[in-house]
Amino acid sequence: MPEPVFELKGVTVRYGAFAALSKVSLRIEAGERVALIGPSGAGKSTLLSLLNGSLAPTEGEVRLLGQDPTRLSTRALRRLQRQIGTVYQQFHLVPNLSVIHNVNAGHLGRWSLLQAVVSLIVPLERSRAARALAEVGIADKLYARTDTLSGGQQQRVAIARVLVQDPVAILADEPISSVDPERSREIMTLLRELCDRFDKTLVVSLHAIEYAYSHCERMIGLRAGQVVFDLPAAQVSPQMVEALYRIRDVDV
Ligand code: ADP
Repeated sequence: MPEPVFELKGVTVRYGAFAALSKVSLRIEAGERVALIGPSGAGKSTLLSLLNGSLAPTEGEVRLLGQDPTRLSTRALRRLQRQIGTVYQQFHLVPNLSVIHNVNAGHLGRWSLLQAVVSLIVPLERSRAARALAEVGIADKLYARTDTLSGGQQQRVAIARVLVQDPVAILADEPISSVDPERSREIMTLLRELCDRFDKTLVVSLHAIEYAYSHCERMIGLRAGQVVFDLPAAQVSPQMVEALYRIRDVDV
């Protein structure tokens, strides 16, 4: 069996006495499109932080691209993290810089400090940034100031930055929550098409269940830090989704 892109075995994450994730085990194979769904506080962001190596488990084992991030040197961990790109709900762009600088931030893990500093004055790799922007449909925004763009356009810039990073897998944490509802479908379709075309694994947390059904082939339902179901999207019934989000007496 080929090495999975991500593997968790009996993983628990505790913040003090509180378990944000409890005994989670899963495998995600190359090329999968996986949606993480569940109510707020279910542990979706915590799981994504484990998958990009920015958080270590309290218990259990995490393997990212076949490696245990807790056993790596800082340098080796950074090299591993370059292979995993993350797109965030709030875009994580520098608003008063031009788009090209934000897209080029995708190189930062690879560039030397000198290249990074020079790039702030003279944008390097202009053609690569321009290509990435064309891929996300905003080729004309290369020199626009980032904060003059709409939410949907800023998320496209964040996706272009991940394309420049050229990771094996793309993680997206609520990528459409800060985007105008009409642009949400476009952003989800763009993410899926880019992952298909460039052969990248996609793990995306979503509030909007309709996109989990329409854009992902597997759904992992989380609630109170536990995996409630992990199934092909076609096997997840509306009743299962309703139960996942239902407010229980104990919750209120
Ligand atoms: P989701 O992304 O599904 O909304 P999160 O992974 O953000 O859920 O959070 C899961 C639980 O862990 C929540 O109850 C949250 O309050 C808690 N939590 C997350 N990060 C921290 C932290 N740094 N310190 C304490 N509690 C945290």
